[in-house]
Amino acid sequence: MTTDAFSSMLKQLDKAAQSLGYSREEYEFLRHPEKELTVSFPVVMDDGSVRVFTGFRVQHNSHRGPYKGGVRFSPSINREEVKALAAWMTWKCAVVNVPYGGAKGGVICDPKELSVGELERLTRRYTVAIMPLIGPDKDIPAPDINTSAREMGWIMDTFSVFKGNTTLGVVTGKPVGLGGSVGRREATGRGVLYTTLEVSKKLGIKPEETSVAIQGYGNVGSVTAKVLAESGFKVVAVSDISGGIFNPEGLDLGSINEFLAENPKSTLKDYAAPNISHITNGEILTLDVDILIPAATGGQITEQNANQIKAKVIVEAANGPTTAEADEILEAREIHVVPDILANAGGVVVSYFEWVQNLQSFFWNEQEVNERLEQIMVRSFANVWSVSKEKGVSMRNAAYMVAIDRVISAAKTRGFNL
Ligand code: NAD
Repeated sequence: MTTDAFSSMLKQLDKAAQSLGYSREEYEFLRHPEKELTVSFPVVMDDGSVRVFTGFRVQHNSHRGPYKGGVRFSPSINREEVKALAAWMTWKCAVVNVPYGGAKGGVICDPKELSVGELERLTRRYTVAIMPLIGPDKDIPAPDINTSAREMGWIMDTFSVFKGNTTLGVVTGKPVGLGGSVGRREATGRGVLYTTLEVSKKLGIKPEETSVAIQGYGNVGSVTAKVLAESGFKVVAVSDISGGIFNPEGLDLGSINEFLAENPKSTLKDYAAPNISHITNGEILTLDVDILIPAATGGQITEQNANQIKAKVIVEAANGPTTAEADEILEAREIHVVPDILANAGGVVVSYFEWVQNLQSFFWNEQEVNERLEQIMVRSFANVWSVSKEKGVSMRNAAYMVAIDRVISAAKTRGFNL
């Protein structure tokens, strides 16, 4: 039986905490989010009707700093998934050692069915509904699936209007002209590149001899594809929710991006070019490639397909793409998995840079942002890799061990007495 995302997270937590020698009593507080808020709010639709939407904001842990985590718009989002995503943010911030806790938010909606005006009203109503929980020193949202700089600008504006002063630091991933950081949009993909380069060095993999398949071609997947190709990797397959395209000789990413930009309502299933075959989202995961990068949604690599995966390395750009059962199969098959909480942490690292720049009202250039991002990703990878070798555990378990140790130490230092 496949476990849900929150149960998968608990399994990973239990395993790492026990490997560290902590008793259940010492880490029980991490098995529960600190706060969970479910909100329902009305939105006036373009035809004058009123629809009620439901959303969530879950704050998992704040021992190391304010809560931090994205906001996802999706028809399938549910509270258990948001709880798991919030906990993964706690581990992610700890593994790269940025001074935040973890949170996540979401609204049950299908943005494809909403006009820009409806989306704006929904985003602003959701902001008001979660306003008691957020703030630049409390909880700082950011983009996630189906949200981007535009939605972050609306959240910042709504919060500022209600507070009576412009508060740039309440969200990250904002438009650059509105206090956003240069390099934030590309940060998660660049972070995936840096961790892919590091694992390649460790395993003696040469980029120019290496084929890569990427599931998901949104913000994270498309930037990852671009920067990997620029570094010499051969990106042979990419997919979006409509399916994938595959060319064993390597894809022409420039032509794909041009097609999508010129046809904003199109998906990859509409793209045609010589030597391209169309494949399903299931098929992309089991292609005969060297590196597989899930960059779409959670629960894609399961006990049903884990045995068919041919890649030697999986770099998890998405959050929670591998179920706990699949993880055991991959570990037994000695497939190297660079876990999500490390591989996709570039986004939160540059979110942290954006927040720091907002608090200081002093902005950095793109080179400074990218160099500092690279330093943190390379250092964090090296830390996790060495724990994995020293303790003889998977990179996932090692990343959890690094993260959980930091969170438990911070909590113990603060103490639980009031
Ligand atoms: P996005 O909305 O920009 O893109 C999502 C992509 O995945 C799209 O191409 C979409 O068509 C595809 N997709 C969605 N559902 C799918 C499915 N069921 N099967 C196959 N493809 C599907 O979102 P994003 O910001 O690129 O986020 C992608 C993943 O990366 C998510 O798991 C997110 O949590 C994670 N992530 C994002 C950031 C960030 O900075 N945006 C940071 C860390 C992790």
